[in-house]
Amino acid sequence: CGIIGILGQTPVAPLLVDALKRLEYRGYDSAGIATLEDGHVERLRAEGKLRNLEAKLATVGRMGRSGIGHTRWATHGAPTERNAHPHATDRLAVVHNGIIENFRELRRDLEAAGRVFVSDTDTEVVAHLVTARLDEGMSPRDAVQASLGALEGAFALAFLFEGEDDLLIGARRGSPLAIGWGSNEMFLGSDAIALGPFTDEVTYLDDGDWVVLTRAGATIYDAAGQEVGRVVTRTQGAT
Ligand code: GLU
Repeated sequence: CGIIGILGQTPVAPLLVDALKRLEYRGYDSAGIATLEDGHVERLRAEGKLRNLEAKLATVGRMGRSGIGHTRWATHGAPTERNAHPHATDRLAVVHNGIIENFRELRRDLEAAGRVFVSDTDTEVVAHLVTARLDEGMSPRDAVQASLGALEGAFALAFLFEGEDDLLIGARRGSPLAIGWGSNEMFLGSDAIALGPFTDEVTYLDDGDWVVLTRAGATIYDAAGQEVGRVVTRTQGAT
């Protein structure tokens, strides 16, 4: 339902939650964040309102400067903590808006190959597809690109990788996703409202685009894998 991603200069967990609050108007049934803590993906997820997630965050230390967050509007799998995003493997965490239409076939193949699923969502196949490619030795960028071709349906995705403190990868087909430009900070958001507290320089990705973010900037690719330029828009009166 709502996505935020931050490569920041200060602990991002509270910033992720604040951005998710700005997406509350969309409605949601659960929420979660993943941050990179000393190189390791650590998640916090909760059913219901964002205050439940905030209450959990208040009980743990989260100092990571890169992370992703999500508010979920369940389409496949009950709105429980187990089904809340981010979904994760030992290599990555991912948040997703939309529906992966061919998730049953993908899940069957991945399970046949020994991958163990722990949720009822369509989204978890994305985590395992990319992980399988990482395990084959691909880079995060190549693993995401190779996996996007296997997905049918509508999605906006944001990935955070184990051991990669200066990397977020985003992708969109059917669902919106925007890049926020900062100064030695970069952002991803499902809409400009989520990015409002951080920057007024926003690039809306075209359908089929995917993007590799580091703190230094963004490299955008189209569906064919060609590097492309997309305009930077100055959002008016963003607060
Ligand atoms: N289809 C996914 C799920 O049910 C994502 C739903 C959403 O856009 O929040 O978990």
